[in-house]
Amino acid sequence: MLSARRIDLHTHSTASDGTVEPAALMHAAAAAGLDVIALTDHDTTGGHAAAAAALPVGLSLVRGAEISCVWQGISVHLLAYLFDPLEPAFAAARAGLRASRLDRAERMVGLLADAGYPVTWEQVRALADGTVGRPHIASALMEHGLVPSVTAAFTPEWLGSSSPYYVAKADLEIMYALELVAGAGGVTVLAHSRAARGRIVPEETIAAMAAAGLTGIEVDHLDHDQPTREQLRGLAAELDLVATGGSDFHGQKKTFPLGAELTSEASLEALMARATGAEVLVA
Ligand code: AMP
Ligand code: ZN
Ligand code: FE
Ligand code: FE
Repeated sequence: MLSARRIDLHTHSTASDGTVEPAALMHAAAAAGLDVIALTDHDTTGGHAAAAAALPVGLSLVRGAEISCVWQGISVHLLAYLFDPLEPAFAAARAGLRASRLDRAERMVGLLADAGYPVTWEQVRALADGTVGRPHIASALMEHGLVPSVTAAFTPEWLGSSSPYYVAKADLEIMYALELVAGAGGVTVLAHSRAARGRIVPEETIAAMAAAGLTGIEVDHLDHDQPTREQLRGLAAELDLVATGGSDFHGQKKTFPLGAELTSEASLEALMARATGAEVLVA
C-alpha cells in the first residue's frame, strides 16, 4: 500500500516575509519529503510563477496566499487557495493590502527613527523582496543589534500591536474577503485562529464565517496546543469545515521546519473539490 502523501498547506517565501526564494523553497520541500506544498505568501501571488517553474518532479504545488483580514478590530489571517490570480476584484484587493503595508511600514520606521533608532526606510525596503511586513523591520532592528532575533522584536517594546511604534494596516473585513476569494473561484481556510498573538475571534464568529462560505479551518499549527487542536477539530466537524494543517514555514525568520504540520489527503481532496479558480500544479 502507498504511504500517505505528506501535504503542507502553509508556507512563506521571499515573495513576502520568508527567507527562502520560491524556487529554492520547492527544492527544499522535495528534500523535506513533502509530496504537496502550498505557497501562501502574505497578500501576494508574486512567488507563484518562480515556484511553478522550479517544481521538482513528484511535488505538487497548491497556489495560495495568506490574506490580511480583520473582524471587529481583531486581526484574522485567511488562507486562500486555488483562486484565479487574474480575477480583477480579488487582485485589486491584494494590491491594496500591499500598498497599505508599504505605507504602514514606512510610518513605523519613521516612528522608530524619530525615537532615535538608526533604522531607515531604505534599509527596510532593501530587506523586502516582495510584500513588506514587520518581520522585515525586525530584521533591520537585528542588523543594528537592537534585538537578538526577529521573534524578539514582537514585543510591546518594539513591534507588537501595543508598541508605540506600531501602526495598523488596512486589512480586509473578513466577511468581504470570503466573498472576494469565492468570487475568484478559490477556497478559504481560517489560519491559526487560536494563536496567542492578540485577541482571538469567538466561536460564534467562526460559525458566522462558515455560514458566509468559509471552507476550512487550520487545526494543526505549531501555535495550537493539543487541547486547542481537539477543540478545533470538534468545531470543524460541527460546522462542516475542512480541517487542515501546515508548518507556516518562514525559513530563518522562524524556527520550525517544512512539513512540521501536515494536512490529510481527504482534507486536500475536499478543498480541491470546491475550488474552480486554478489547478494544483504537478511537474
Ligand atoms: P505583519 O503582517 O507585517 O503585521 O507582521 C506579522 C507577521 O509577522 C506574521 O504574519 C508572522 O509571520 C510574523 N510574526 C508574528 N509574530 C511573530 C513572532 N512572535 N515571531 C516571529 N514572527 C512573527
Ligand atoms: Zn509571515
Ligand atoms: Fe499568519
Ligand atoms: Fe503564515
